[in-house]
Amino acid sequence: MVTATSSDIEQAAEVLRAGGLVALPTETVYGLGANAEDPAAVARIFQVKGRPPSHPLIVHIAAAEHLDDWVETVPETARLLAEHFWPGPLTLVLRRGHRVPLEATGGLETVAVRVPDHPVALALLSAFGGGVTAPSANRFGSVSPTTADHVRTELGDGVDLVLDGGSCEVGVESTIVDVTGEIPSILRPGGVTREDLEAVLGRSIAVPSTSHVRVPGQHPSHYAPRARVVLVEPEQVVAEAELAQGRGHTVGVFVPASFAGVPVKAHAVVAVPGSMDAYAYGLYGFLRELDQQGCDLIVVSLPGEEGLGLAIANRLRRAAGPRLSR
Ligand code: AMP
Ligand code: MG
Repeated sequence: MVTATSSDIEQAAEVLRAGGLVALPTETVYGLGANAEDPAAVARIFQVKGRPPSHPLIVHIAAAEHLDDWVETVPETARLLAEHFWPGPLTLVLRRGHRVPLEATGGLETVAVRVPDHPVALALLSAFGGGVTAPSANRFGSVSPTTADHVRTELGDGVDLVLDGGSCEVGVESTIVDVTGEIPSILRPGGVTREDLEAVLGRSIAVPSTSHVRVPGQHPSHYAPRARVVLVEPEQVVAEAELAQGRGHTVGVFVPASFAGVPVKAHAVVAVPGSMDAYAYGLYGFLRELDQQGCDLIVVSLPGEEGLGLAIANRLRRAAGPRLSR
C-alpha cells in the first residue's frame, strides 16, 4: 500500500492554505478537500465536480472537541453520537456556526460535520488546523472513488494534489444523521449502521424511504456507472443477464452470494461477497470495473437491508435511477 508521507501531508496542508484542492483518503471514500472557510476554494470544488452549488458539503474536522467551533449549539444527542462514533463514518447535521460560509452549506442554515477515521485524513486535518469541506472526489452523479488511482483517472488536473492512503476500508459514504430536531433521523444510510445508532440512542431511528437529496426527485441518479443499472430479484439475476446478453447488450452481472457458482452467460461477472462489510468495500470498485470492461448494462439485485446492506441497497437504487444528463 502506498501511503502519503509526512512531507506529502505538510505540502497538502500548504495547498489548502493557498486555496487549492487536495484529494484525501478517508475510511469511506476519497474526498475532494478545500479550506472550509475559503469561499473561493469551496466554489472550485463545485466547479471541478460539476456539482450544483445548492448541494451542501460535509465539513471534516480533526476531533470531536472542535465541533463547537463549527456549529451554533451541540445538542446532547449530537454529543453522544460524536462520542461513540467519531472518528468514524457518521456525519451530523447541526445548526451552522458563523465560521461556515453559506457556499459550503448550499445556502442552508445547517451544516454537516464529521471526523473521518483515516490516519492520513486525520494527519492532514491536524497539520492544516481548520475544517476541510470534502465531497467525494468524483464528477457529480458518478461512482465514488475508493482508491487514489480512481481520483487521478476521474479528476486529473482538476485537483492540485492527491494524497494516497490505499483502498478505503469501509467503501461507502458516511451515514448522515440530522440532529437539529427533537428526534434524530437518517438522511443517508452509510458506514455506521442504523442498528448501531439505535443501540446508542436507545430508541428507533427513522430512515426516509426516498433519498437524501435536499429536493426530492431533482437528482434521481447518483453513484452511477456509465452502464445502465437494472435491479431485479436475486433469483432473476442469472436469467435477466442472459436475456439481455442475448439481445445484444454487453452485460455485467452481480451474482448474489446465494447463487455463487451458478454459470451465467454474460460479458463480465462479479461474485457478490457474502459479508456486507466485504460487499461495501468492493461495491464502487466492481461498478468501475464493469464500466472498464465495456459493459453497457449491469444486472444486480438488492441485498437485505440490515446492517451495511441498507447503505448498499440505497446506492444501488440511486445508481439505477433515471439518469442525469452528464
Ligand atoms: P457527498 O459529500 O457528496 O458524499 O455528500 C454530502 C451529502 O451530505 C449530500 O448528500 C448532502 O445532501 C448532505 N448534506 C450536507 N450538508 C447537509 C445539510 N446541512 N443538511 C442536509 N444534508 C446535508
Ligand atoms: Mg458524492
